[in-house]
Amino acid sequence: MSRSDRLLGTACALALLVPAAARAADAVTTVQSQQLPRLVEIYKTLHSHPGLSHHEETASETVAAELRKAGYEVTDHVGVYPDGSRAYGVVGIMKNGPGPTLLIRADMDALPVIEATGLPYASHVTTKSPVTGLEVGVMHACGHDIHSTVLIGVARSLAAARSRWHGTLMLVGQPSEETVDGARAMLADHLYERFGRPDMIVGLHDTNAFAAGTTAIAIGEAQAGTTSVDITIRGIGGHGAEPQAARDPIVLSAQFITQLQTIASRENDPLEPVVVTVGSIHGGAKRNIIPEEVKMQLTTRYFTDHSRQVILDGIRNMAAGLALSAGLPADRAPIVTIDENESAPPTYNDPALANRVRAALARSLGADKVSVSQKVMPSEDVGVFGLPGHQIPLAYYSLGAVDADALAKARAAGHELPGPHNDHFAPVPELTLATGVKSMTDVALTLLGKP
Ligand SMILES: [Zn+2]
Ligand SMILES: [Zn+2]
Repeated sequence: MSRSDRLLGTACALALLVPAAARAADAVTTVQSQQLPRLVEIYKTLHSHPGLSHHEETASETVAAELRKAGYEVTDHVGVYPDGSRAYGVVGIMKNGPGPTLLIRADMDALPVIEATGLPYASHVTTKSPVTGLEVGVMHACGHDIHSTVLIGVARSLAAARSRWHGTLMLVGQPSEETVDGARAMLADHLYERFGRPDMIVGLHDTNAFAAGTTAIAIGEAQAGTTSVDITIRGIGGHGAEPQAARDPIVLSAQFITQLQTIASRENDPLEPVVVTVGSIHGGAKRNIIPEEVKMQLTTRYFTDHSRQVILDGIRNMAAGLALSAGLPADRAPIVTIDENESAPPTYNDPALANRVRAALARSLGADKVSVSQKVMPSEDVGVFGLPGHQIPLAYYSLGAVDADALAKARAAGHELPGPHNDHFAPVPELTLATGVKSMTDVALTLLGKP
C-alpha cells in the first residue's frame, strides 16, 4: 500500500471512529481531527531524532514546548539520578477547579537498536553505548515516540474540553523507562511534593499484538516486576594446560548458570510465574589462560514479593554453595550485587480503576475495540509512580499499533508482526495516534468528569 493510500485508509478509519454528526457537535473531536496531521509530523520528527535513556533531550524539549503551547504550566528537567545527574522529565499541570488529580504518563526514551524499517522517517542516529562503549544505533524501537505524541494530543484535547472536566491534570513526560530508573528519578526530585500527589495514574503502551484502532487492558496483575542482578564469579587464574593449579571461574560459571534454572523449576511455587535469565556473560582473554573472574548480568521477573525473595535467596545460596564446592577461600567467593535502581515493581492495574478505564475505552472506541488482556512477563516502571504497596491506583492499557490486514495475514501464515524492541517495529502512525489521543482523552474525561 502506498503512503497516500495509507493516509486515505486512515482518514476513512477515523471517520468510522467518529460519526460525522458527533464530530460536528463535539469540539474535542474537532480538535483531534484538526491536529492529527501536525501530530503525525511531531511523531515522525521524534522518531527520526531518538535519544537513549538518560539522553531524551529532543523528546523532552518537544513535549515541554507543546504542553506550554497548549496552556499547561510546564516544568522540565524534573528528575535526579542516584549519581546526582539531572533527568529530562517534563511535568505539565492544568488546574481546573476542585476535583481529583489525574497523572497521565508517557515515556520518552529510545533503545540501542539499528533501525531496519526502511521508513522515510527512520532513524539514522548512532551514539556510543553507555554499557559497552561501542558505537550503537538508536531507534524508537519501543514506540515511546508514539506515547509522547499521544500525550501532546491529549493535552490539547483536554485543554479544549475544560468545560467538561474538573480537578487537576498532571501530564508527565518520563525519561529512562528502558533502564527503569526514570520514574524513580522523578520521585527522588520530589515530584509529588512539588506538583501534588495524584489520586489516579493512567498510561498506555503501543503493541504489535493488537491492530491499530483497538486497545486492551488487564484487570489486576498486568506486567511482572523486575530486579537486575550482577554477579562476579571469582576463581584463581592460571595456565590453561594446568587447571589443577587454578580454580576455573568459567567452569564454575557454567555450573552456576545451569543451577540457576532450578530456581524456577524447583525452588519456586509452580503456580507463580517467574523468570531468571542470564543475558550477558563475559570472561577470559585467551584460549590458554584460566581467567581470574567471569562477570554476568541477570534479569529476574515475578509478580509477588515472595517470588522475588525466592529468586534472590536462590541466587545468593547457589553462589555461596559454588564457593564451598570449589574450595575457594572466602575472599574469592562470588560477588552478588542486587541493582535496586535498575528494578521495578510489578505493574498492577487496580481492578476498580481498570474497570472504569475499560468502560471508558468501550464508550470511546466501541466495545469490539477493547479486549481484556492477560498478564505478561515484560516489565515497566510506571508502577513506581503508584508508590510501594499500590498506594495510588493505576491503570495501564495497550494501544494497538499495527495494520489490521497485515496482522491477520501474518497470523494466518503462523507468525507475528515485528513488535517492541525489534528493529523492524513500525507502528502505523495515523490510526495509532488518533486512537491513542481519542481513547486517552475520553478516559481522562471519564475519570475527571463533572458529577
Ligand atoms: Zn521497551
Ligand atoms: Zn516501552
